[in-house]
Amino acid sequence: MTPRTPLVDPQGRHIVYLRLSLTDRCNFRCSYCSPGLETAHGDVLDRSDIRRMVGIFAEMGIRRVRLTGGEPTLRKDIVEIVADLTATPGIDEVALTTNGHRLEELAGPLRQAGLRQLNVSFDTFDGDRLERLSGRAADVERIRRGIAAAAAAGFPSLKVNTVVLRDVNDGELGDLARFAWRHGAIARYIELMPFGGGTPVSVAEMQRLLEEQGVTLVPDATRGWGPARHMRGASLDGDVLRQGLLGFIGAITENFCGDCNRVRVSASGALRACLGGRDEVPLVGLLRSASGEAIEAAIREGLSRKRDRHHMEDESFETMVRIGG
Ligand code: SAM
Ligand code: SF4
Repeated sequence: MTPRTPLVDPQGRHIVYLRLSLTDRCNFRCSYCSPGLETAHGDVLDRSDIRRMVGIFAEMGIRRVRLTGGEPTLRKDIVEIVADLTATPGIDEVALTTNGHRLEELAGPLRQAGLRQLNVSFDTFDGDRLERLSGRAADVERIRRGIAAAAAAGFPSLKVNTVVLRDVNDGELGDLARFAWRHGAIARYIELMPFGGGTPVSVAEMQRLLEEQGVTLVPDATRGWGPARHMRGASLDGDVLRQGLLGFIGAITENFCGDCNRVRVSASGALRACLGGRDEVPLVGLLRSASGEAIEAAIREGLSRKRDRHHMEDESFETMVRIGG
């Protein structure tokens, strides 16, 4: 691996984490993510673009890549991309976020390709509610089978992610924790960000609701790569006492930008320094024709615009499906 100068933003934060969107497309239509119908636009990074780009990022100090979208498992080459990235010198962790629709068939192959960290989005146990929230393709039983397959495949880190919406799924937080723990997963609760519809619930209120719904919570010092803060929980599940971790992402009430360590690249190869910013640097053309030095310079140029924090509370945004969550 050619050492390059590490990536540091204007605030002095070391950038070690790349979130890479593999596609804008999605088979679900979650109201909070894609309020309008998104169409795939322009060229999408192909497997060799991704391999080259991640190789250069790794030389600049990126240690972790999360694959997201859109729905990353809609890519036919998803298992091959994971295998390429886990084999990239310098990359310590490859993670994936999915809606779980194709997980039953993909959990085993993804684990074999070296994937260690898997997040599955799951907002409700109620089929009608899920259909209203995420569209007709979303099927509770299918996602549950996918999560069971992931548990059986033995991912070292498995998380069940829930966006908490007032008067929609705020009565299911305890059940979601018990469900996650039954599968050896961490239950994670995400504050709604203002991309689409729905009313948010703050992290403080989520914790109160969890206690009301039978989960006792104590603070836990676990810190991962991202902004989640953790609690350790316990709850009776029938006659069985279950225990496990819960993660809370206070995207709005606990501005998480202070220790931000990440950079994003969209499916079309646009580098974006901040989820809540609009500045983009296109990389796709460079990846197909330019030298490694020119690509490195473009990445540094994009990072030089990284602001101290997001301003999502007072700006309007594109959809999450376009940016890559
Ligand atoms: N399709 C995959 C999925 O749903 O897991 C990956 C992409 S999705 C954009 C990544 C994560 O962003 C999901 O956990 C989703 O619930 C979350 N998300 C989408 N819109 C959001 C919003 N408005 N506020 C908070 N989280 C959101
Ligand atoms: Fe698709 Fe994921 Fe957005 Fe839902 S949250 S519309 S599954 S990209």
